[in-house]
Parts: sequence; structure tokens; C-alpha cells
Amino acid sequence: MNDGMVNAAYIIAAILFILSLSGLSKQETARRGNQFGIAGMALAIIAVILSKDVSNYGVLIVTIGIGGGIGAVLAKRVEMTQMPELVAILHSFVGLAAVLVGFATYLDPDSNYLGTERTIHDVEIYLGILIGALTFTGSVVAFGKLSGKVGSKPLILPARHMINVGIGIACVILLMLFIGTAPETASATAGKGAGTAILVIMTLLAFAFGVHMVMAIGGADMPVVISMLNSYSGWAAAATGFMLSNDLLIVVGALVGSSGAILSYIMCRAMNRKFFSVIMGGWGDAPKGAASDDDEEQGEAVSISADEVAQLCKDAESVVIVPGYGMAVAHAQHPVSELTNRLKAAGINIRFAIHPVAGRMPGHMNVLLAEANVPYDLVLEMDEINEDLAKTDVVIVIGANDIVNPAALDNPNSPIAGMPVLEVWNAKQVIVSKRSMATGYAGVENPLFFKENTRMLFGDAKDSVNGILANL
Ligand code: NDP
Repeated sequence: MNDGMVNAAYIIAAILFILSLSGLSKQETARRGNQFGIAGMALAIIAVILSKDVSNYGVLIVTIGIGGGIGAVLAKRVEMTQMPELVAILHSFVGLAAVLVGFATYLDPDSNYLGTERTIHDVEIYLGILIGALTFTGSVVAFGKLSGKVGSKPLILPARHMINVGIGIACVILLMLFIGTAPETASATAGKGAGTAILVIMTLLAFAFGVHMVMAIGGADMPVVISMLNSYSGWAAAATGFMLSNDLLIVVGALVGSSGAILSYIMCRAMNRKFFSVIMGGWGDAPKGAASDDDEEQGEAVSISADEVAQLCKDAESVVIVPGYGMAVAHAQHPVSELTNRLKAAGINIRFAIHPVAGRMPGHMNVLLAEANVPYDLVLEMDEINEDLAKTDVVIVIGANDIVNPAALDNPNSPIAGMPVLEVWNAKQVIVSKRSMATGYAGVENPLFFKENTRMLFGDAKDSVNGILANL
């Protein structure tokens, strides 16, 4: 393929990626958005393979075979509940790739940049490795936290802000030194020994920063971390594009980087947090000396059986279902969809209330409900339905916890204080389907379970919903 054809393919791929993003912004068009994305990526890969930069097809086929094979097996095996971890680990690969490409580009013996060009090229390499390295370790820690291998409590080191500022200053000084290693007139390979040493030190610092940054962020703030790392991985890809002078990678990286940044902003607004405060870490844990909910006498939770819930539903005019992470764990979306159809057929006003951070990734609940063919018009966002909850006869909370915790509004000392929540307790009757009295991801007790109008439907959510269906 000549350069003109490759560029044409890149432009078409970039347009497909933009169409993909716009499709993914609405449930109705999300499937088409995915198809555009797949087509764009396929076209981009084919164009790169057929470009004149690629000559060693043997190595390429073997590496694509190994990588593609592992990816296909993992993607097939992964449970819906493990998707957020998968996304986090995939972000880490983008970061690691940026680091490796950065070193390879710097050490490339054929690179012949000199003078100002070399300075610009070196800054691109430095930034690419820096962003890539912190994205890599940050994403690995996020993977650990989301998979439960690392505790969700924030790790608050005594001088954490000083550590962050220190690493930041050190990286700026190292950048100056790094640029200084490139002589104005000597050969393009001059000064690379010292430059490599500086890059290695900076990479280690960035690795440490990534670990420290994400370790300091508490469970409840993890949604912002995921979207933030998503954004970083985009900027790392864009930096790689600059290093390799690949326009498509720059465009795609910028698209991912900016859409991740917008998503981070949306998540921050949903959680009533300031972005800067989140990345400085430290939330998701009770403030020092604060009265923890655990210490307070909560009273007793009252349980209910599935047939009693079925009767409540039959007597209701309006029912709202609030799905949470437990619905994903239990794979309860299909019986929930069946319940929706049955209640709708009986003339009951049935709707869903979706909290922006429900589940373990942005849009988690929407994806599950769409998979189970729940009509989109019944699925409402928190802002659209919160006021209606007071006029609702029965709210059924299915495997949700933090997103319906009144402590977020009532208890200023709560780790989730200030986070907008679904005010389900205003409904006439609240049913909470979960297995036990355990806390949610943020590790906070939930006073909802002890309210007078709340009844606990204990058991696996799928079994519980099937139990309700059997008694309808
Ligand atoms: P939570 O994690 O707060 O609560 C889920 C509840 O589901 C648990 O209390 C658990 O209780 C119950 N559960 C688990 N398995 C089952 C099952 N098989 N059947 C029935 N119940 C079950 O989830 P929410 O959706 O309410 O809130 C999301 C939380 O995750 C927030 O804190 C949010 O900040 C955080 N988060 C969100 C991300 C996002 O992007 N959406 C990303 C990362 C974190 P029990 O064990 O008793 O059954």
C-alpha cells in the first residue's frame, strides 16, 4: 500500500471511531457504535500491516496470533462482573506499550533527529514513557482493587502529598537533564547512555507514583479512577503516536483521552466530588475521629419472603427496581426482565432507577438490562426518577447497597457523605434483595436496612426474583 492509501485508510478509520463514540453514547445505538469501532480498528490494523513500514510478516503473524489468541480466550471466559477488572488490566497494557515503544524509539540506532527536532522528539518520548508508566502501575493496582485482590480502603501515607509533589518536581528536573543530554551538533546517537539512565530513573518514579496515586483512593471513588485511567491510557496512546509519527494513533489516543476525561467529570459530578480531590486520594474511608456508623445502634432489620413480595407487587400501582452490583453477581437480569414484563402486563407502572456509579463500571447496569431486553424507555437515570420515588408504592432494590445509602445525605462523617443517592426510603415500601447484612463496595453500614418501611429479602438475587415470579 502506498502512503496515500494508508492515509486514506487512517482517515476512514478515524471517522469510524468518531461514529463509534457517538453511537456508544446512547443505549439504542450502542450496538451499532461497537460495530463502527470494530470496523475502524480492523481497517487501522490492516492499513498498518500493509504499509511500507512493516516488512517482517513472520514476527507479526506470530505475535498477533499469540496476543489475539490470549485476548479471545480471556474475553470469552470473562464474567460480566469481571469486566471492570478486564478493562483496568487492558488499560495497563496500553501504558506498558507506551513505555516500551518510548524506550525502543529512543534507542533506535536509525533515529537521526538533531537540534530542535531532537529536543521535540525527546520530550515526546519522555512524556509518553511518563504517562505510560503511571498508567501501567495505576491500572494494575486498580485491577487488584476491583478484583478484590487488594483491599478497597485507601492507603494513606503520612506525607502522601509531599511524596506526590516530590515525584512531580523530580520528573521536571529529570526532563531538563534529559533534554540536556542531546548535543546540538554531534551524531544522533550521542548522549544516549546518560539519557537512557535518566529515562530508567523517571520510569521507576512514575511506576511508584501510579501505585501510590491509586492506592490512596478509596473504594467509593474507584469509578473516577477507572475513567481517569481510561483517559490516561488514551493520552499514552497519543504520545506513542507522536513518537512513531503515526497520525491515526494520535487521533485515536486524543479521542480516548478526552472522552475519558469527560467521563471522569461526569462521574465526579455523580459522586459530588472534585476531580482534583479524588486524585489526591484519601476518600472512601471514615475521617479520623468521626463517629462511624458501625458504632451506632441500628435496631433490627426485618426480613420478608418472596411470596409476600409478590403480594406487595400485585397490590401496587407503581414499582421501581433499583439494580446494583449484586444483580450482576447473581446474573439476575433475565428473571428481572421477566418480572418487568409480568408486572407491566398486569398494568403496574414499572420502571428502573439507575445510579451513575451502580455496579463496577460506568453503564454497568444499562448493559445488563439491555442484554436482558428490558425496554430502554423504562430505564431512568437517578435525576429523572429520584423525585418520583416518594410517590412509588414499592421499590425493589436488587443487589445494590452504597447507591441507596441514606448516610450519604444524613451523616456528614460518613465516607460517602455528599454522594447523591437514590432516595428509595421515601417510597411506601422498600424491599432489599441481598444475601446478608454485609456492606457494599465502600465498606459502609447502610441504615436503609433498618428503616421501618424496609424489608430484607435475603438470598441470592436470582433465586429471590425467581421466587417472586413463582408467586405472582
Ligand atoms: P455495592 O457494592 O455497594 O453493593 C452490592 C451489594 O450486592 C452488596 O452489599 C452485596 O450484599 C450484594 N450482593 C452481592 N452478590 C449478591 C447476590 N448474588 N445476590 C444478591 N445480592 C448480592 O453495589 P452498588 O451497585 O450499590 O454500588 C456500587 C459501588 O461500587 C459504589 O460504592 C461505587 O462507588 C463502587 N464502584 C463503582 C464503579 C462504577 O464505575 N460503577 C467502579 C468501581 C467501584 P451481600 O453480600 O449481602 O449479598
